[in-house]
Amino acid sequence: MMRGEERPCPVCGAHAAEVLHVRRFVLPDGHPFVAGYQVVTCGTCGAAYATPLPPQEAYEAFYRDRSKYADAATGTGGGVQPWDDARLADTARQLAELVPDRTAHVMDVGCGAGGLLRHLRQLGYSRLTGIDPAPACVAAVQAIDGVRGLVGSLFTLPATATPADCVVLSHVLEHVRDVGAAVDGLRAVVHRDGCVYAEVPDATRYADFLVAPYLDFNTEHINHFSVGTLRRLFATRGWQVTASGTKTIWSSPSTQYPCAWVAARPRHASDTPSTEEPDTTLRHALQRYVKASETLLSAISANCDRAQLAIREVFVWGTGQTTAILLAETPLGTTRVVAYTDSNPIYHGLTIAGVPVVPPEQLRERPEVPVVIGSLLHGAEIVTALTARRFPNPIIRLDFSIP
Ligand SMILES: [Zn+2]
Repeated sequence: MMRGEERPCPVCGAHAAEVLHVRRFVLPDGHPFVAGYQVVTCGTCGAAYATPLPPQEAYEAFYRDRSKYADAATGTGGGVQPWDDARLADTARQLAELVPDRTAHVMDVGCGAGGLLRHLRQLGYSRLTGIDPAPACVAAVQAIDGVRGLVGSLFTLPATATPADCVVLSHVLEHVRDVGAAVDGLRAVVHRDGCVYAEVPDATRYADFLVAPYLDFNTEHINHFSVGTLRRLFATRGWQVTASGTKTIWSSPSTQYPCAWVAARPRHASDTPSTEEPDTTLRHALQRYVKASETLLSAISANCDRAQLAIREVFVWGTGQTTAILLAETPLGTTRVVAYTDSNPIYHGLTIAGVPVVPPEQLRERPEVPVVIGSLLHGAEIVTALTARRFPNPIIRLDFSIP
């Protein structure tokens, strides 16, 4: 695991930050990210972010080599699942209002398996480019008729990427360590009269959409934006913000997720730069989120005790972000886990504290061992899949009796 380095504020560059929360994770062995960090708010501009963190290169390597978005069946962004597809269709319609010209060159950076590009194609766009660090994602993009796919990122933009009329950053900036450099790099791929559309989770509403404790303070989401701090990020780096707002998207068949978005274009000499006030809402909103997460965590810990996890062997289904937090913060961390399993094959063969992550079929070899559902976001889907595939193992849901 890599050592973390202190970060300045990703929005304004200041170093004066107040600690809001200390996060810990139990991650797969050899995972390149840190096993914990502080969530802080900037005393100057009000932005919120995680620190200390490994360098940007660690994130580049992670999204290139270990992208969970490369698996079409489980990764978001491909639009394979109906709820994911619905939100991509919605974003495509929003972009069509922003850039009505169907001959405009639209470039999706961090495009995953290309679900948004597929919807833009269906709306009639003829010049579409998708860029993603994961080769498997780019292969999926190239398979979409009429869409060009290139391997790269905001930091390693492909030399063959010609400037676009609209660059889309959909759920990218919350994953980036060196945010300012990423936004500056956009200048090379946005036409002088082109625009950027950036969408991120809306951290001011995390508490209103709480599903699993601290799920938004995960290993990949390292910046927590409000509309205000997102506007400020672009406005202070030579961009003219033309529109911004909030929306909600589906994050599972039954849960919604809050988002903030901004549209901006390169600032011209004739423009009057907009002045963005420091954000005064984010700190309080995140304090509310911490409090709500703590309450939920206590309820889950009580359910662990009720399920007598301390005295039994279990399998754990789900090796994602919620499991990483539950292992660090609840009695699940001291339970005797026989093996972990996950629907996403990218995790098979890893170990967590020496315990292997196996394909789901191997659970049948120990039918008497119960399966703890480690995901709260996709808990209902996992239970449905287990039942449909006639797994004999008893099921333990940690969120079952939570009001
Ligand atoms: Zn700041």
